[in-house]
Order: sequence, then C-alpha cells, then structure tokens
Amino acid sequence: MYGQPNGAYQPPVVQQQHQHQQGQQPQYDQQQQQMYAAQMAQQQQQQQYQAPQQQYQAPQQQYQAPQQQYQHQQQQMTQQPPEFMAAIREQERLDGARFTWNTWPCSRIEATRLIVPFGIFFTPLKARPDLPPLQYEPVLCSKCRGVLNPYCIVDYRGKSWNCALCGQRNGFPPQYGAISEQQRPAELMPQFTTIEYTLPRPNQGMPPIFLFVVDTCMEEDDLQSLKESLDTCLTVLPANALVGLITFGRMVHVHEIAFEHIPRSFVFRGNKDITAKQLQDSLGLGKFAGNPQQIQQPRGAAGPPAHGGILQAQNRFIQPVENCRESLAEVIDQIQRDPWPTTAGKRSQRATGAALGIAVSLLESCFPNTGARTMLFVGGPCTQGPGMVVGEELKTPIRSHHDIAKDNAPYMKKAIRYYNDLAARAANNCHCIDIYSCALDQTGLLEMKQCTSATGGHMFLGDNFNSALFRQSLQVVFNRDSTGNFFMAFNANIEVKASKEIKVSGCIGPTKSLKIKTSVVSDNDMLGTGGTSEWKCCSVTPNTTLNFFFEVTNAHNSPMPPDGRFFVQFITNYQHSSGQRRMRVTTLGRSWAEPNSMQISAGFDQEAAAVLMARVAVLRAESDEGADVQRWLDRALIRLCNKFGSFNKDDPNSFQLPDHFALYPTFMFHLRRSQFLQTFNNSPDETAYYRHCLMTENVTNSLIMIQPVLYAYSFEGAPAPVSLDSGSLQPDRILLLDSFFHIVIYHGRTIVQWKEQGYETNPDFPSFAALIKAPVDDAALILQARFPMPRYVVTEEGGSQARFLISKVNPSQTHTNPANFAYGGADPSPPVLTDDVNLQIFMDHLKKLAVTNPA
Ligand SMILES: [Zn+2]
Repeated sequence: MYGQPNGAYQPPVVQQQHQHQQGQQPQYDQQQQQMYAAQMAQQQQQQQYQAPQQQYQAPQQQYQAPQQQYQHQQQQMTQQPPEFMAAIREQERLDGARFTWNTWPCSRIEATRLIVPFGIFFTPLKARPDLPPLQYEPVLCSKCRGVLNPYCIVDYRGKSWNCALCGQRNGFPPQYGAISEQQRPAELMPQFTTIEYTLPRPNQGMPPIFLFVVDTCMEEDDLQSLKESLDTCLTVLPANALVGLITFGRMVHVHEIAFEHIPRSFVFRGNKDITAKQLQDSLGLGKFAGNPQQIQQPRGAAGPPAHGGILQAQNRFIQPVENCRESLAEVIDQIQRDPWPTTAGKRSQRATGAALGIAVSLLESCFPNTGARTMLFVGGPCTQGPGMVVGEELKTPIRSHHDIAKDNAPYMKKAIRYYNDLAARAANNCHCIDIYSCALDQTGLLEMKQCTSATGGHMFLGDNFNSALFRQSLQVVFNRDSTGNFFMAFNANIEVKASKEIKVSGCIGPTKSLKIKTSVVSDNDMLGTGGTSEWKCCSVTPNTTLNFFFEVTNAHNSPMPPDGRFFVQFITNYQHSSGQRRMRVTTLGRSWAEPNSMQISAGFDQEAAAVLMARVAVLRAESDEGADVQRWLDRALIRLCNKFGSFNKDDPNSFQLPDHFALYPTFMFHLRRSQFLQTFNNSPDETAYYRHCLMTENVTNSLIMIQPVLYAYSFEGAPAPVSLDSGSLQPDRILLLDSFFHIVIYHGRTIVQWKEQGYETNPDFPSFAALIKAPVDDAALILQARFPMPRYVVTEEGGSQARFLISKVNPSQTHTNPANFAYGGADPSPPVLTDDVNLQIFMDHLKKLAVTNPA
C-alpha cells in the first residue's frame, strides 16, 4: 500500500514568495526556471518594476539616461545572463518590444550570416496604465515625419532638436518656447520611450460598432445558451455602442431593431451571393453608401449619438444600444431554431457564407472606414451557397488533412477564395471579424481563417455554446480596463520608421499591408506581408503582437554611425474603445556591434528567436510540405549551433552553446513535435485555430504554446516548475500543465490511492486537502484572463484524459528504454508510449551534425 499522506504540505503562495525574495529556487532545470520567472514576473510586475522607474525620475539623470541604461545593459549582457533576461523583460514591459538580436552587425554581409532573422516582436497596445495622457499633437521631424522622442538630441538654448532617426535639425513649435532642461514635455522624458497622445479630432466620440451574426441550425439547448450569452453582451455594451443582428440557417435574416410594433426582418436566400449594391437596394441603405461625411459628423457633448438623425431614421438595422436595448433583447428572445427540416442522413442547410457576406456588405455600406466588430457564432459547417465547405450528405465527411494532401477537398479552394475576398473587403473598411465556432465536427475555420487573421479578429473553437468555456471566453472579450473602457481597440494603423542603415522587410501578424512604400521599405527578402512601411489592424487587444522583420543594408566598408546606435520607431494610430483617436509612439534604440565581436551573440534573445522561427515555420507550412518545413527548421538549428557553439571539430562531446543559446535547441525540439507543425492528430480546423493563436499572441504566451510549463505539487517541498519530461510524472505528485490551450491537473497513482481512501475529506489530514486544492487555485488564476479560455482537464495516472499531458512531455522514458527508471525501481514512472525520438537523442544528433557540418 501507499501509506498515509503524512507530509506537512506548505501552502504554495507563501512558499513562492519566499523563494523569490530569498532567491532559494528549488532544483529544476534552467528552462523551466526561466519560464517560471516569466510568469512570476507578469504577476509581480508592479512590485518588481517600481525601482527601475524611480531611478529615471532623479533629475540629474534626465536626458542621457536611456543611453546610459542601455550601455549598462550591454555590460550585463556579456556577463550575467539572468540580468540580461531581466533587462529584456523590463524593455518588453515598457515598450512592448522584443528583439531576436539586441545588437546588430553594422554591415549587410555580416548580417546575412546570422541564420535567425532580425525581428522585432511588437505589442502595439501593451497595457501601460502609467502613461500620462497627452492631450496635444506630437511634434514631427520636418524631413522624415518621425515623432520627437527621448533619444533626440535637444538644444535647449537654441530651441531645436536633432531627429534620432534621420539626423535632421528641427525647430520646436512656438508652444514649446518655455522648454528647458528643467522643464521638459513628457515625450522627452527618458522613461517615456513609449508615449501616447490623445489626438484632438473632429470625430472624437465614435462609438464602437458590434454586429452579431448568429447561426440558428443548432440544438435547442445550445441555441438557448447562445441567446443568453448575446443578452449578456447587450448588458455590457456602453449605451452609445451601435449594434445590429443577422441570423441565418437556410435563409439569412437581417433584423430591424428599431421598430414600434412588430419586429421585422429582411430575408435573403442563403444559396445566393448578394452584392453590396443589391443589399443596399433591398434594405433602403442606398443614401448612405460610400458617404463617410454623414458617418463622421461630430458628436456634440450632449447632442444625439454620433450618426445623426438621418442615418438613424433610415438605418433600422444598426442602432445605438440605448435606443434599442429592449427591442433587441426581444428579437434575440424570439430567435428560433432554423425551421427548415433536416432529413435523415443530411446536414442542416446552413448559409454561413451568404450571412457573412451580407454582414460585410451591411457594415461596408453604413460605416466605411470606421472601427467595427462582426461577431460570427457558428454551430456547424456551411453547406450551401457561397463559402460552402461540405455537401449536405452526412455520409461524405468534411475534408481532413489527408484529403487536402490527396487533393480530395472539392469545396476548399473556392470557399477560401470567397472568404479571403470578404476578409479583404472587411479589412479595407477597418471592420474586424470574430469567429466563435462551437461544434463537435469542423465548421470550416480553415476556409474562413483569413476573416480573422487579416482583420485582427478573435477565433474561438469549442464543442458547444452551452459550455462555461464559451461563455467565459466571450466575457474575456468584453473585459474592461481600470477606466471602465474595453481593452479592445479598433482601426489601428501602424507605421514603421527607422535609421537609414536598416530597412523593414515584412510583418507576420493579424494585419493587412497598406502598401505604402517609403525609403525604409526593403526591396527584397519579404517575410509575411512586406513591401510597405504601414500596416492596418482592424482590432487590437493588449496582447496582439506583430513581428516585424528588418535587414541591415549598410555596406561592408561604410563607417558605423558615430554614436554606434540605430533606432526604430513604431507609430500606432488607433481608435480607443472610448471613441478617442489616439497615437502611441514607441521608439527603440539599440547598439551596432563592433565588427566580428562577441557583442552580437551576447544580445541573442533565444525566447524571441524561438517564437519568431515558429511563426516563420507556420507561415511556410501553409504553403510547403510538412517535411520540408521540418528540414528547414533543422537546417537552421544546425547552422546556428555550428556558428555560435564552441567545439573541437568532429568531437560531439566537446560541443557547448553559450548561455544565451542553451535553451534554444529544446524550444526547437518541442516546436517540431507541436500541433503547429504536426497535423496528424488534429483536424484542419484545429490546426487553423492553433496557428491563428500563435500568430497573434505575445512572446511569453507563444512560448508556452511551443513548450508548455509543468509545475509539481507534493509533500516534498513547495510547488515548483519541473522539466517537461516523462521523468517528472511521479506517483506522489500532482502536476499542473499549462500548454496555453489546455490546463491539465494530473494526479499520480499514490495521490489517487490517498483520495480513494478518503484522506482528502479526513479532518486529520488537512495538509492533503490543501495539497489537492493548491493546483486547482493556481489553475483558476491562469483561467481568469486568458483568451481563448483554456480547456480545463483534471485527470490521473492511467486516466483517458492523461493524453493531454503525456503528448506534451519529452518521452525520456519510453517502452524502448525501460531501464532508465529514475524513481527507486519498485515504483517506476509510467512509460510514455510514443515513437518519436526523445530530447536526448535529438540533442546527440544535433551535436554530431553541428560539429561536422559547417553551414
Ligand atoms: Zn527625421
């Protein structure tokens, strides 16, 4: 038997804090330590970061501070890796930016040899509640239109400034006449390398617009639950928000929501593609089409809502919530399941494509070039009309990865073309599209994915609408900040400016190119969407993260700039959810490396690099064969190890990587096995969904998706991160796995026995009850704020759901090497059943290739 749970379990919270204060980390491997540090850093941001900010405020440090601080970091980089990572995270907190390389070689030739591209992960609306509200226009450089920032050299006596980006000397505008070293505007303060302007614009007060598009081909309880969720949405929308409703089954209904007596809807056939013109004529919208003046008329402080009397009278389909809350609630209440009968052996006739097309046309006609959010709720695949992804016959299943590989997906290409076209039209008008897909089978996310990824919309994948997973995820969408405004922002335009030695060559993320070619745009090496210096995001959350690619274009023999630095500026113009037009300006300064110095490798951010390579790999996987992508990743890894590792030629045992690179091969190992590149266990919809999240999230969350975090809870000590390895599965442990999409609590065999013997409820063993509860509490913390909400699984050794954990751990102990028991022989960890190679074998191969195979 297993004895009694006699250990003294220590509550986790106290213990974790203790570890942090004392620096007494339990034993676990380095990578878990870093992941753990990343998460704790997020939780403890406020506490941890107050000190560095204070140092900036000391008056004597004023202008030179960012440079000094950066040089200080440079020293740290070469010597003390943990402090290097702390500095990286601090930069990320302040500017929402992570560089794959923090020091760049100044020559084009040297730059092309670094294997991992020069990328910057940029989170344009990183939460910064501490930023001062600036209620004025930014000062622009007369030559490059860059924005005045703390890196600019200011001549206070001469009242002029030198642009950090292009070197141009500019005078200050008259209102800056009183400027002096003691009296500076916030945008010159060193702590505000990221700053935000609230722009005085005539269309201030533009309310957010929400258009619900609701599938009615679903089970009664599912539909009922969805209706309740929609009601909840209505109650959280601000009074001035504009809202509309489209429902669809075999037909598409556009509902009138401003009505006096009987609710009406306009009905369209679901098997036809309706043009925007036809829709305008049918709904009587013609007068407004393409007339943004009417849309953008200013809203008086106490006057009527934004769109004036004419629009309201005529457009009975999209109305301010305050005018229609009750009538719309009534319409929602009366939504019925699609009345068209579904015969045996057939799928519902569902016109998702036509409905989405009508939604796009409706917003395009009424609110061109204005932030808006279409929310599509779909409970099955589109089976008729434009955008259909499968036929009605149930005996013919929807396409699988296998079908696609065999070119046996007859509807796919046409459907993708249709949805891509809708996505482009929506994006052109700044309208984002969310897709909430809840069904046991696929609904066509694969075909529809551009609708979300080109517009910055949300994608959600669940089993049914009658689930906490869906309801709570929808709540997260409508989360509010401390000022009571939604976190979501609309209609963002992100412009890149940079020093003349570098060019921007592309962007991966939920954006659309604005095709604006300035001198900062590279001519070659496009990755993602390139050929532009401006991109559009129709919707942005505080986590939305884009990665921009750069190249060094400086010729080999041209001299390094005298101050040894280069700058990148991101200018993000967006519609705040309060309706204000705002401009966030982030200016990033980094150093050039001395030729052939160690400075380049010392500035490597392996976490950012791993996520960047994952994004590029996913992008390639969309067009190339899976095996080719894997080979490409492997080759890049081998070349990187060859270039930056130290070894005696042909001696794998001598191989070593610098600290900054040590975790990178492990990230690649897990990436190769991840659902982003392995598709055999997933449907095409699941693959599309996982990839969408990876292409949208910040570096920390993306890294959790690639290499999940595993924590162990036991009587042996405080909860601690452990290796993502089958050796971590021990009988007397509870494990908590966070893979971003799943939170798994896993009880080892002994724990299960103890539970079965009733110790959990036995008052003589309070410690055991506390041990059982600890991971549950920690899981709740993670579940609170994440979108999409992760699936929550509680399982045990041998349990059917244990696969969610088993599939993620490194199979160090498989049935092929059973001798490798780490745990006392009598109680071996359960072997992991898998055929793929484990990390040890992977690393052995890698070392062998890296020491013998130069480039
Ligand atoms: Zn300039």
